[in-house]
Amino acid sequence: MVETEVLVVGGGPAGVISALTAAKMGKKVILIDSKPYEEIGNKVCGDALNLAPATFLEEKLGIEKPHGEEVAENVEHLIFKTTKADFPIQGDGYVLNRHPYGQRLLETAEEYGVEVRTETKAIKAITDADTVIGAVVQDKRNKETYEIKALVTIDCSGRNFQIRRTLPKDEFPLLEKEMEKRDVAVSYREIIKLKNQDHPYHNKIFLIYREEIPEPGYFWVFSKGEKRLNVGIGWFLEPRMRGMKQHFWEVLHKYYYPPDSYEVEDKGGYTIPTRYPMTNAVASGFLTAGDAAFHVNPLSAEGHGPALTAGYYAGKAASEAIETNDVSENQLWQYNVDVMNHFGLSHTKVQLFTEALRRIKVSGVEFLLKRKILNKEQFIDLHAGKQLGFFGTLKIAIKSFPRYGILLQLSKIVKGAQYYEKLFAEYPDNPDDYPAWQTQFETKMEEVRGVK
Ligand SMILES: Cc1cc2nc3c(=O)[nH]c(=O)nc-3n(C[C@H](O)[C@H](O)[C@H](O)COP(=O)(O)OP(=O)(O)OC[C@H]3O[C@@H](n4cnc5c(N)ncnc54)[C@H](O)[C@@H]3O)c2cc1C
Repeated sequence: MVETEVLVVGGGPAGVISALTAAKMGKKVILIDSKPYEEIGNKVCGDALNLAPATFLEEKLGIEKPHGEEVAENVEHLIFKTTKADFPIQGDGYVLNRHPYGQRLLETAEEYGVEVRTETKAIKAITDADTVIGAVVQDKRNKETYEIKALVTIDCSGRNFQIRRTLPKDEFPLLEKEMEKRDVAVSYREIIKLKNQDHPYHNKIFLIYREEIPEPGYFWVFSKGEKRLNVGIGWFLEPRMRGMKQHFWEVLHKYYYPPDSYEVEDKGGYTIPTRYPMTNAVASGFLTAGDAAFHVNPLSAEGHGPALTAGYYAGKAASEAIETNDVSENQLWQYNVDVMNHFGLSHTKVQLFTEALRRIKVSGVEFLLKRKILNKEQFIDLHAGKQLGFFGTLKIAIKSFPRYGILLQLSKIVKGAQYYEKLFAEYPDNPDDYPAWQTQFETKMEEVRGVK
């Protein structure tokens, strides 16, 4: 048996920053990952990262922003594109080479004193009544199974959330245990190198909505520098639709590059939990961050930035609780407050937009533009859940004929955003008040998603 103050499961962006933060705050930290050392940070990905989380890490932890070989392309706009219009919905960022960036973060964590145990897989949580006290792990090299006991365990194991998944439900009633199929996005991507000419996609990344791709899924084209592109496709597992690679090649070859015009440098697919964040990611002795806590943008499926951000808050909350000799749910609760303040509300609003897009589809968006019911700026505001003051006017209603259903969906986004703004302003500062708050959150979400 091994003992530590903080055990972090997973060395992706969430885990490495959790571990680094706690170690920088003077805590004894063990980070485990099932991969070999040199593979940590490598992941099939679109590789896009916003500037905001990189700036956040620089300010909070002094970690330099991605640079040098870590950056394949600097990005000025993320563009939501339909066949008829382009909407720039975000600003500056990067298309990364994730592997060297992830390796630098891992090395920095080690410099702060994190002990990294590679090829070590978490099997399950160890609990004592309602408290997590560590994990059973296995060394993959010799198949030896042993326990790592910790004051705080942080689950950053990504889409399989191995620790949270293995917690007994009765003892941890406030933590969600399952991931629903409708919240799982599946995606496939290739990194291609054009043989002859350069491409015209520099400094922008495109999320492309086409009718061949089930909404709100999309095709993406991200520049990885001269002649190189990260191109991919993704949609939700439900409703079930087969032939992802076939669709990918059809779109790529028909609208962009024929098969003989490029070489494939890398390819692969994976699933992404793509939903509003868990509104509670805390239990006694336990925190969870990144994909393991559904911290992914519910429309674009960008999860790298939120994982880095939540990792910082998790490492900080764990350290502060240990300093008070109290790792209870109550003491760790500030983590929830920080995450909800940082991106909880904004991701919830994006979820509303995603639900509307599932229903009105790309053709609905194009109808709105054609009839001038929405202009581009209003569309961008709608995506961000900002308030729009134009509903209820006769003019809009007449323009929407005969597709009044679209208007209803837009009105739902606006009203839902107002509802959640009020609700998040009252996010509880302790676990006792959470169940009542959660009921209000879930009831509205079920209504928006058409469950009830
Ligand atoms: C195809 C694709 C494209 C994407 N494109 C983008 C994009 O362009 N921009 C963006 O922001 N996000 C994108 N994402 C999402 C992004 O990759 C994730 O949100 C992000 O990596 C989450 O970080 P994480 O640390 O939570 O999890 P991960 O990066 O998944 O890291 C989890 C780590 O835990 C380890 N692990 C897992 N299970 C165990 C276990 N039992 N024991 C020990 N270790 C374990 C894994 O080896 C891994 O190192 C994409 C995802 C996919 C699949």
